[in-house]
Amino acid sequence: SVNRGKVVIIGTSNVGSAVLNKITDFQLASEIALIDLDMDRARGEALDTSHAMSSPYSTNIKVHTGTYEDCRDAAFIVITAGPSILPGETPDRLKLASTNTKIMRSIFSEIVKYTKEAMIIMITNPLDVATYVVSTEFDYPREKILGTGTMLETYRFRYILAEHYDMDPKNIHGYVLGEHGNDAFVAWSTVNCAGLGIDHLDEYFHFKNKLSRKEVEQGLIQTAYDVINLKGFTNTGIAMVACRFIKAILYNEHTILPCAAVMNGEYGMRDVALSIPRMISQDGIVRSLEVHLPEDEMEKLVRAQKSVRAALDGAGVK
Ligand code: NAD
Repeated sequence: SVNRGKVVIIGTSNVGSAVLNKITDFQLASEIALIDLDMDRARGEALDTSHAMSSPYSTNIKVHTGTYEDCRDAAFIVITAGPSILPGETPDRLKLASTNTKIMRSIFSEIVKYTKEAMIIMITNPLDVATYVVSTEFDYPREKILGTGTMLETYRFRYILAEHYDMDPKNIHGYVLGEHGNDAFVAWSTVNCAGLGIDHLDEYFHFKNKLSRKEVEQGLIQTAYDVINLKGFTNTGIAMVACRFIKAILYNEHTILPCAAVMNGEYGMRDVALSIPRMISQDGIVRSLEVHLPEDEMEKLVRAQKSVRAALDGAGVK
């Protein structure tokens, strides 16, 4: 049976360690098992985080290295294994498709030996390719495989827009949808700021610089590569995103967030995974919402579908 407090993290480098630390700090688990090809790294992370449990600010969460057997009673399995794009490389996550498809297959063939119950949180890139491969090539309940997808771009977008107007990013509602990567797009038709209406913000705030949607859109894609080029990798934002989903599931929130899953006929699409708004409860993805998109946004969704499908084809995925 499932231990509601148990998390397995697979891949314990930049991203996995950040996820580990946010989960412990937010007290979203009572036990965390770490798996990596490089078990020394996993052991080091387990020790370092365990030392922090002596602080009065920490809940005494048991953190240890593990094996795939730990998946047997896990409530969550967070997958962050596999390389990222590195500083200076071609800024396109899709080029990781072949390598990380192989890694996803090897990891998932282990997981399915032990469980079909755990909620799988996918982080490895190319996110939509990885999510599609594990969802379609293994007999695992699809509603329990959640790709973090454009939740991260959505957080980035909210920050960029909030900076422009010097306001709290949490005042900004609306979604970035499509591919987690270069074909993520702002669904402007879904955007609102504190109920003020996106078209009226310049008027309320009397800004010298009028909002340029194009600049926001370009900045949104570029900012991930800026982080990679500046600090070597991204990990803090995605760790927060992972915790957002874990909490939504743990607390049975029925909250609606953009995230990736295999399309099930929404917008007539089935041959890719993409992010659209989806309702998250303790059972995973319980509804996927085919939001009404105007023609220009629909075109961008189709473009995202085509590029993810091309990456899947390139990696030999049906
Ligand atoms: P990294 O290269 O530093 O670490 C990858 C880790 O995976 C290494 O520790 C490696 O030993 C381990 N690994 C490789 N193959 C494995 C296997 N078969 N089993 C177990 N472990 C294995 O990469 P990182 O910076 O930590 O990023 C990890 C992944 O997360 C990358 O694919 C990156 O692109 C992705 N990422 C996704 C998002 C998102 O929004 N979805 C954000 C940031 C990073």
